[in-house]
Amino acid sequence: MNIHEYQGKEIMRDFGVSVPNGHVAYTVDEAVEAAEKLGSSVTVVKAQIHAGGRGKAGGVKIAKNLDEVRTYAEEILGKTLVTHQTGPDGKEVKRLLIEEGCDIQSEYYVGLVLDRATGRVTMMASEEGGTEIEEVAAETPEKIFKEVIDPVTGLTPFQARRLAFNINIPKAALGKAVKFMLGLYEVFVQKDCSVAEINPLVTTGDGDVLALDSKLNFDDNALFRQKDIADLRDLDEEDPKEVEASKYDLSYIALDGNIGCMVNGAGLAMATMDTIKHYSGDPANFLDVGGGATAEKVTEAFKIILSDDNVKGIFVNIFGGIMKCDVIAEGVVEATKQIGLTLPLVVRLEGTNVDAGKKILDESGLNITSADSMAEGAQKIVELVK
Ligand code: ADP
Ligand code: MG
Repeated sequence: MNIHEYQGKEIMRDFGVSVPNGHVAYTVDEAVEAAEKLGSSVTVVKAQIHAGGRGKAGGVKIAKNLDEVRTYAEEILGKTLVTHQTGPDGKEVKRLLIEEGCDIQSEYYVGLVLDRATGRVTMMASEEGGTEIEEVAAETPEKIFKEVIDPVTGLTPFQARRLAFNINIPKAALGKAVKFMLGLYEVFVQKDCSVAEINPLVTTGDGDVLALDSKLNFDDNALFRQKDIADLRDLDEEDPKEVEASKYDLSYIALDGNIGCMVNGAGLAMATMDTIKHYSGDPANFLDVGGGATAEKVTEAFKIILSDDNVKGIFVNIFGGIMKCDVIAEGVVEATKQIGLTLPLVVRLEGTNVDAGKKILDESGLNITSADSMAEGAQKIVELVK
C-alpha cells in the first residue's frame, strides 16, 4: 500500500526523522491558511498524488508570498498531472502539501528496500539526489552505495556513518545525517514498509539534514497489525477495478493489453502472461482468483475483467489442485450466462476433476473454445483477438 508524501512525513516526524514543517490542504483557502500558519518567507506548494516526478510536471511550486500561494494552489488543485510514473492518463490532484521552503545546499538520495537476493533490508544512498535514481543506477552505478542490514543488530551507526561519508555529506552535518538514517530504518522496520525512499534528502544553509520528499510503501500482508497505516489508504489514488477486486479478495492488477486473464495462483498467473507475450499477445491484467475461488468469485472476476474496455478476449487458465475443475467450470458457465459474454473465451483446465469440468463446458452450449495446454490456450486467444 502506498501513502501520500505529507502522510509519510508525519510518520517520519513521529520517529524523530527531520522533515520541513508543513500542512495538508484540500482547498485553496486551506492552502493560504496553512501558509499563514507556517509564516515562512518561502512556501512550497506541492501536489499530493501517489507518483513521483511531480517537480518536472509542474506539481511543485515555490511561492514567495501568500498571493503566490493562492495562485499556485488554484493552478495545481484539480489539475491532472502527467508524470513519468502516472502513465499517460495522469492523476488528478485533490490534496496539496503546503510546506516551508528550505535553503537547499545539496540534494542526496537515501532509500531502504528489502533485497530479495540477500533476504535483508538494504540501505542505498547516493550523492546524485533529486534526479531519477533509476538513471543513476543505469549510467553511474558506482555512485550508489549500499549497506546490507543484519536484522539482529539493525542498521548500525557505523554503517550509517560509512554511507554518509561515501556520499560526501559535509563533515558538519555528518552527525545529523547518521541520526536521520537510523531513524528512517526504525520507521521502515516498525511500520512494516516495503520501500522507504527519500529523494531528495538535503543539507541546508543552517546545517540541517531534512527529507524534502518521502515515498513510503507498506507490505499489504502486515496491514492487519498497522491499523493507523491502513487508515491512510486513499482510494482515489487506486485503479477502481483494483479496489473492486480487493473487496472480493482477488489479486488484480490492470495492464495495458487486450487479453483478459483469469488464473488461480500467482505463479501460474505470471506464467500465463509470459506465454501470451510469447505468442505476441498482450495481457490486459494480472488476476489471481486464489485457491478457494467460488462460482461467485469467478463471476466477480469476470465482471472486473469486462469493465476494462480494452479487453477483446478472455483466457481462463486454471490448475485444479485444491480447487476442483468442475467447480471452476460451473463458475465460468454461470458467469458467462449472467453477464451475457460476447467476447471470445478460451478455457484451459487441468487437474482434479478435469473431465467433469470439460464436460460441463462442452454441454453448456456456450461459445467457449477449450484448450489442453497453456501454450495452446495462449495461441488460441491471441488468434481470436486479432
Ligand atoms: P518529485 O520527486 O515528485 O518531483 P519532490 O518532493 O522531490 O517531488 O520535489 C521536487 C523538487 O522540488 C526537489 O528536488 C526540490 O529541489 C524541490 N523542493 C521540494 N520541496 C521543497 C521545499 N520544501 N523547499 C525547497 N525546495 C523543495
Ligand atoms: Mg522526489
